[in-house]
Amino acid sequence: MYDNSSYHKPRILIIYTGGTIGMIEDPSTRTLRPFDFSHLIDNVPKIKKLDYEISHIQFNPPIDSSNMNPAHWQQIAEAIGKHYDKFDGFVVLHGTDTMAYTASALSFMLEHLHKPVIITGSQLPIGEVRTDGEENLITALQIAAQTDPVNGEPMVQEVAILFENYLWRGNRSTKMSADNFNAFKSNNYPSLAKIGLSIQFNPDALWRVHDPQPLKVHTGLCTDIIIIYVTPCLTEASLRQQLDTPGVKAVVLKTYGAGNAPADQWFSAAIRDAVDRGIVILNVTQCVNGAVLPKRYYTGDLLSRAGTISGHDITTEAALTKLMFLFGSGLTPRQVIRCLHHPICGEMTI
Ligand code: ASP
Repeated sequence: MYDNSSYHKPRILIIYTGGTIGMIEDPSTRTLRPFDFSHLIDNVPKIKKLDYEISHIQFNPPIDSSNMNPAHWQQIAEAIGKHYDKFDGFVVLHGTDTMAYTASALSFMLEHLHKPVIITGSQLPIGEVRTDGEENLITALQIAAQTDPVNGEPMVQEVAILFENYLWRGNRSTKMSADNFNAFKSNNYPSLAKIGLSIQFNPDALWRVHDPQPLKVHTGLCTDIIIIYVTPCLTEASLRQQLDTPGVKAVVLKTYGAGNAPADQWFSAAIRDAVDRGIVILNVTQCVNGAVLPKRYYTGDLLSRAGTISGHDITTEAALTKLMFLFGSGLTPRQVIRCLHHPICGEMTI
């Protein structure tokens, strides 16, 4: 057991960006719109029962996460960087629509993170009787405050998404349901914790920082990345048009199954031409579960021989934001390709 004589109340910073959790109905349009933090917190009186020092900052105005863009990720990352030493953990309140993108982006932007960054939101606004927001917020705060009873270190040392019954690694998560309270899932990685009567952490799944170093916040993000979705009606003209997008530096190529695409000569030729122009093409499966296995089928092997890189079991959200981060750090295509072969912060399994 570690010596806890220097105990202080957990200090948590809530960063409220918006999302359904804090929304109210606009009487004129009957649509949900983000509202300010005081409305949100007034609906969770039991928060006072947590013996924590809680501070907050909010986006001004708070936004529906469909409006999220890289400038907002920079704002969140910078806020965490600015307040990093003053708090034990961070809770980011966020809409569900782009939560997995934000979680993935932050995981790359916050190098050497050694404290919990727990992102949560809700499917029903906090003011509604059956809301899931109250429970999600309280649980997120408890996880952000949790230390390891053995060594006093933060229990979570990474960016994670807390939603209903599970805590997921942020850069492994995907929004799975627009309806279910369990809206998120990490299809290729176990949950970091199960939330039931108690919070059961999964020590084998948690990211561990063995040699803590000062947090380094990276805010450079490149937006010259596109996603191309392979379908049976994709034509040569359409594929080439997308690959010829002015300024494009990298493509997330969403392929079938274990990383397969049509074996037509025009397909491989278009990919090869783009690779020869220095465009990095990352092969990511359209399946929600499983990985790219480039040598399994002739149709996948053709793609890797045309110069694509296997994304293994990475999510689309993590693939896109990893490329944004790597090119945003000023790396050359060759350096980016080298980095794509390895996980940076647990985003894929080789
Ligand atoms: N449109 C909302 C948002 O992403 C949905 C939600 O929060 O669940 O902000």
